[in-house]
Amino acid sequence: MPARTGEQFLKGLRGPRAVWVDGERVADVVDHPKLRGAAHALAEVYDLQHTHAATCLIPDPETGEPIGTSHMIPRSRDDLMRRHKALRQVAEFSVGLMGRTPDYMNVTYAGFAGRSDEWGANGNEAGAERLVAYQKFLRRGDISLTHTIVQPTVDKAMGDAPRADNVHALRKGADTEHGIVVRGARVLATLAPFADEIAVYPAIPLPEGADAYALSFCVPMSAPGLKFLCRDSMSTPDNRFDHPLSSRFDEQDAFVIFDDVEVPRERVFIDANRTAYNTVMTTSWPPNIQHQTMIRASTKLDFAWGLALRMASAINAVDPETMRIIGEIWAYSEFARSAVATAEAEAREWPGGMWTPAVAPLHALRALLPIWMPRVNEILRLIGSHNLLAAPMSAQLADPELRPLIDRYLPGARGMAAEERIRIFRLAWDFAGSALASRNEQYERFYLASSPRNLARHLVFADRSRADRLVERFLAEPY
Ligand SMILES: Cc1cc2nc3c(=O)[nH]c(=O)nc-3n(C[C@H](O)[C@H](O)[C@H](O)COP(=O)(O)OP(=O)(O)OC[C@H]3O[C@@H](n4cnc5c(N)ncnc54)[C@H](O)[C@@H]3O)c2cc1C
Repeated sequence: MPARTGEQFLKGLRGPRAVWVDGERVADVVDHPKLRGAAHALAEVYDLQHTHAATCLIPDPETGEPIGTSHMIPRSRDDLMRRHKALRQVAEFSVGLMGRTPDYMNVTYAGFAGRSDEWGANGNEAGAERLVAYQKFLRRGDISLTHTIVQPTVDKAMGDAPRADNVHALRKGADTEHGIVVRGARVLATLAPFADEIAVYPAIPLPEGADAYALSFCVPMSAPGLKFLCRDSMSTPDNRFDHPLSSRFDEQDAFVIFDDVEVPRERVFIDANRTAYNTVMTTSWPPNIQHQTMIRASTKLDFAWGLALRMASAINAVDPETMRIIGEIWAYSEFARSAVATAEAEAREWPGGMWTPAVAPLHALRALLPIWMPRVNEILRLIGSHNLLAAPMSAQLADPELRPLIDRYLPGARGMAAEERIRIFRLAWDFAGSALASRNEQYERFYLASSPRNLARHLVFADRSRADRLVERFLAEPY
């Protein structure tokens, strides 16, 4: 099947799934008041690939059918640049607010399939073959995937990775005639209500003896025993004037319980193989996936800069201090754009012929964005001040008694109409102050580990040879 339309995507979401949101089990995510806003927004993402087909679609390498560009296994720098345009198109749709639009997992699985050599090492040949077959299914079915790679935190003193006796983390229970049974929990499946399937793959390396936790697989959302506990909804659907972002971009996050879920053999990519589990994420995965995440982040920063300029202009705040803090957002945005460009310019080929951007610029950016993004929100709230909270709702604008008064007392500077000023500050509040804004800030802090953890790991990705040489010159000088 070629790339899906929004209508086809929504039809797929109507299948059975055990999803709870705001205290109730959801019968139909497409129509549910707390989920329909994002469901329909994601349908627009699927439609977008057809309205921007030249950017967002490529021929399937085997069937020739049009598939999403994010499913591409890049084979050159030109391929990466082509993928960049498609990822940017999707990022612009939600101005970077939806981190886990389906292209995130498309890029991930294309990257896995492109490194079947690595997945197939350490006695995992059969798992790698199944993974390659699954990626074909994913790209040809244009499947929406959620994923979960982090074990639940119960006792931080026990460390990040589960030990052999951990009864909370996801693990293999038994072999069955047709596959394996898994049980346990994982965090935190963003996009879960809007996915067709869930993917489980490695994260923190496992210690000796923890082989039962060394799993990678995919199962449909309808798999018996699979349960999704969504966080409180931050969706305020139906009125895009009042809630321009929360009305459509709450992608949701869910705690996942695998209550004895059977995974068919053809969907098991790592089956209790700790060596495979501990190696497959360590080389090409970070730069491959961060191509998507950093194009999204760069888009979001550009939007924030544009928004800050509009806010300042609405109240004619042209003082040096306002310009300084807006300049700070611009600088973050420019650094993000530059890091992506540098990573692409220094792109490299991996065994098997797959290309990724260079890892170091993207890892450096990922390590600092959890600090920059909250600061961006702080700046928007500083510029906005009380104006963020003096922005009447559409119902007040529609009230014939209030409207003339609002027009008279709430205009912007230099002749800006009240409605335009109100739109700007409502947009800014939804971006930096609303419940969704708060969740988004949490996302930016943690979605691929915290800033402290990423900074502490910089030597895994950095080339220190020049830095060492510069220092060595002085240390090696004779007395
Ligand atoms: C909104 C959201 C969506 C997510 N979506 C997904 C998903 O789809 N799939 C998935 O698998 N996982 C998802 N995650 C989970 C994510 O992968 C983990 O939250 C992430 O790996 C961080 O886990 P951790 O607590 O071990 O982080 P760590 O990197 O260990 O960071 C946590 C700890 O670091 C320290 N720390 C962090 N920041 C600071 C600071 N500024 N100053 C001082 N100390 C600090 C604190 O001690 C803190 O407890 C999501 C998380 C969030 C918040």
